[in-house]
Amino acid sequence: MSDVKTIGILGGGQLGRMLSVAASRLGLRCHVYEPGAAPAGEVAWQVTNAPYEDAEALRAFADSVDVITYEFENVPTSALDLLESLRPIRPNRRALAVSQDRLTEKTFLNEIGLATAPFADVPEQADLEPAITRIGRPSILKTRRMGYDGKGQVRIGEGPADWTGAPSVLEGFVDFTAEISVIIARGADGQVAAFDPGLNVHREGILRTTTVPCGLPGKVTTDAVLIAARIANALDYVGVMGVELFVTPQGLIVNEIAPRVHNSGHWTQAGCAVDQFEQHIRAVAGLPLGDGRRYADVVMENLIGDDLDRLPGLLKTPDMQVHLYGKGTPRPGRKMGHVNRIIR
Ligand code: AMP
Repeated sequence: MSDVKTIGILGGGQLGRMLSVAASRLGLRCHVYEPGAAPAGEVAWQVTNAPYEDAEALRAFADSVDVITYEFENVPTSALDLLESLRPIRPNRRALAVSQDRLTEKTFLNEIGLATAPFADVPEQADLEPAITRIGRPSILKTRRMGYDGKGQVRIGEGPADWTGAPSVLEGFVDFTAEISVIIARGADGQVAAFDPGLNVHREGILRTTTVPCGLPGKVTTDAVLIAARIANALDYVGVMGVELFVTPQGLIVNEIAPRVHNSGHWTQAGCAVDQFEQHIRAVAGLPLGDGRRYADVVMENLIGDDLDRLPGLLKTPDMQVHLYGKGTPRPGRKMGHVNRIIR
């Protein structure tokens, strides 16, 4: 059905780990490429521990796989250029380029007719005041690149504005009533399958819980899925993508796109026959997608830092699925695992 036997994964974090497990269930092998510590290494077929600047290691990695995917979108362009000359990269480079840079991302979203927060380009500190005059206060200054889990962000209130230290975008503050996300898959043949939108709660910029169903009216959830499908089609996307949205009285606003499996899609492990990890592997391997239907209500909770102390109780809780990432020492803000509580 598909010639793909071995999948290369750039990035060896928990997402790579769960992708590797899903691939092995389908009889496929994963080769993980990771410059740092690799929780995925314990379950993958092979691991290369080398920097993204090591052309020889990248070549050997590409030679050993049929297709390359990633669990981390900030892979340096030079590494991607080399890898792309040797093997297909799925999702494609355009999806990566769009999501690596908040300015490119918002411009693309507006171009395909989707609403974002109002934004202004702030290449350097001197551009900040004029941007604040245009966008207004409150607003949020975010680095264009490399931001995640609220990192590289400065809230701009009434006082003097701090600088992020890197080229940034200034976003108008969105007065949302809820944050939701859609996890959507698109196959190489253009087939699309979406999971139900989840309701996300963040604390200190980090996702804490995702709840399905999200409790919003059908019109909102349908619109959210249509938005995600429009993005996936416009990018000629292959794989699983996470789309984060703000719900406002005026309609849905796209916050950001993740061109990979997403933390807010972990609930699918307990709520669907084919979860987001298997769905991504199916898509990049050229296999038919699963349907994405949900058969249970689920609350996913991240286990962050000291949350691991709750493990004995969590393991004894009925209908609780525990996932641990095999990381070393818990640190504040470090994602150590997650639980999926199935609500009957
Ligand atoms: P991000 O890294 O862009 O996903 O931002 C992290 C979190 O900050 C989001 O999940 C929101 O809770 C909040 N946030 C980000 N951008 C905005 C915005 N423009 N208006 C209001 N809240 C925001």
